[in-house]
Amino acid sequence: MNGLLYGMIRTGQGKKLIVVGEKETLFKDPFIGKIFHHAPSLKVCDLSLENTISLMELFPFTRPVSLLNDPLTIGTGDRLGLATPGHIRGVSKFRVRPVLAQQSIRENGQTGRNFKEVIADAAWSVFQENYREGYGADADHLKSLDEVGLALDAGVSMITLDLSEKLNFEAFSIPQEVIERRFKEEIDPGDAKVFLHLFLDKEFTFRGSRGDLSIRFSEEDVKRNLLLFHQAIDFSEEVYEILLQRSGRKHLFDFEISMDEIPFPTSPETHLFLMIALRHRGVRIDSLAPRFIGEFQKGIDYRGDVTSFRGQFYRHVLISQHYGNYKLSIHSGSDKFSIFPHIGEMSQGKIHLKTAGTSWLEAVRLISLKDPSLYREMHLQALSAFKEASKHYQVTTDICSIPQIEALSDSDLPDSSTRKTPDSFCTSPMVFCLRAS
Ligand code: ZN
Repeated sequence: MNGLLYGMIRTGQGKKLIVVGEKETLFKDPFIGKIFHHAPSLKVCDLSLENTISLMELFPFTRPVSLLNDPLTIGTGDRLGLATPGHIRGVSKFRVRPVLAQQSIRENGQTGRNFKEVIADAAWSVFQENYREGYGADADHLKSLDEVGLALDAGVSMITLDLSEKLNFEAFSIPQEVIERRFKEEIDPGDAKVFLHLFLDKEFTFRGSRGDLSIRFSEEDVKRNLLLFHQAIDFSEEVYEILLQRSGRKHLFDFEISMDEIPFPTSPETHLFLMIALRHRGVRIDSLAPRFIGEFQKGIDYRGDVTSFRGQFYRHVLISQHYGNYKLSIHSGSDKFSIFPHIGEMSQGKIHLKTAGTSWLEAVRLISLKDPSLYREMHLQALSAFKEASKHYQVTTDICSIPQIEALSDSDLPDSSTRKTPDSFCTSPMVFCLRAS
């Protein structure tokens, strides 16, 4: 390009960009680096944030993009920014588009990264692999307008808005006689009128090849749902308007709403309520992450009744197909092998899957193979941090079943580092580090 040749090399100081060409042309090249004059000349450049901007200008395929038109997408959540070339090679074999940069603020806090660095790591990997199909960058589980602003300024192409702090969870547990009072106190009378009108005396019917779904809301249902969602609806609308302002006429950002980290499963009724409410406010989403029934723990298979999951997932699919044809988003999606076929079948291949756990555990296994003493250090560190770290994750790791590391030989480590028991308890302390989003 421009008479210059661009490539990546691995050095003792990490990966570098090299630019090769005639001396005069090399001076015009935007990358900052050290020039070595030979014939031809060579410039060696750090993968700095400044050089990332030049990379994205010169090679636009390294810039994250909206994946709205790709029905099947997978978030790969590369925690340390090292695994993306492998993820690219993995997805290249399938008709699936990757969201290579996918981190939450909390994960960035744990790994000492920020959104700009996460995107830069993905962009350099995309360049290294010459992957030109397009990839996404997801700022996962954002909970405030400040976080949304931070992520958009960094250049993400997807916002996942976590509604959990805007939901009033008591709405479904307070006694009936309290609802009336709370409803009067908390809900704007104009909103109350509009929402009762939107839902009462209506039957919402969804037809599908595996059966129909019909939902009616009683006055109590509407009031409980509105108490649950009213702040979340306002918040979603505010964020959506910001996305519209920043996008202009184009669709630059994929917008996901997540409720997977709330204390109770999202019923089809609740899902429908939220979608009708958002549509009424003019908010359009590209994916929704309900909390499904059963347990979605990090890096292990689904725990729960697969038949019930299937039935409920189908109802969610029907609603999503009728209310904007958005994707259902499966969070903590690593290794959910027992339900993957059902998800694929019922969603008819329109789905977003968020993962991270599998590649993280494979990285740990590799370390235990190549550098057993480093693994032993990590194992003890993980055990000592387990109690604190597991507060942030939905895990049921049985700490007592983890073997004493001192009693294990180096050759035992690769298996024990990622071991899962048949009922899917992970017996590695490493699981606490996982947060597949
Ligand atoms: Zn999540």
